[in-house]
Amino acid sequence: MFAARKIADATNASLISIPQAIAERRAYADGAIGFVYPQYAVGLPKMVRRFILENAFEADYLFAVDLYAFIRLNALGEIAALMPLDYGAYLKTPWNFISMFSPPKDPGAVLAKAENKLGQIIDDVKNRRSKPIRPRNNIGNATKHFGVSQFKVTADCTKCGVCVNVCPANNIRLNGGIVFDSNCETCFACANLCPAHAIYSNKAMLKRRQYRNPAVSADEIAKANICNKNYGG
Ligand code: SF4
Ligand code: SF4
Repeated sequence: MFAARKIADATNASLISIPQAIAERRAYADGAIGFVYPQYAVGLPKMVRRFILENAFEADYLFAVDLYAFIRLNALGEIAALMPLDYGAYLKTPWNFISMFSPPKDPGAVLAKAENKLGQIIDDVKNRRSKPIRPRNNIGNATKHFGVSQFKVTADCTKCGVCVNVCPANNIRLNGGIVFDSNCETCFACANLCPAHAIYSNKAMLKRRQYRNPAVSADEIAKANICNKNYGG
């Protein structure tokens, strides 16, 4: 969200939240339209793919910015296979895959580099520079390798509902206790933002530090991720 917000502020653009807009099925037309998203499990989020496929976009300048953590593969290529991109850029940010790794020891250093790179990206977008992306077929994300279908909660859960609210996929229900459905996108927002650090897919995860970009609050994430309840996978 921090990158989308900075690009929007610098270019005087409007922000649209994909989790909110995904089910509207409408046509977007503007001078420039950009897609700014985090990779989920080293791939293009399913909801971004679906948003692009189920809505229409017409612009003189189409761009995408892909926030990745470890390996970037070619998620931008998945978008380029769906629509011709005039410009695409990758932005390395701190990782939050706490099912497998602790967050970086110094996330501030990673964020500082990201801020620098983002400045260049903003300059490119403002000046409508071209950086075509080679299309590639969808290889899907690596969700199955992260064990998220086995998310559980410990007895520390206070039933506060934060995880329900921050989930962009409408995948968590508070039904006496916390219930995970089968539409997980592997964003790890729930696990990182749970105030009780009670969400896990393996016990080691409970010992790892949680991570949230300090520039974006849990409330802001929840507000952006208020989902159309028709969303599902
Ligand atoms: S955020 Fe954590 S404590 Fe709150 S309801 Fe979800 S699992 Fe329970
Ligand atoms: S918030 Fe949790 S349940 Fe929802 S998509 Fe992200 S990882 Fe999956």
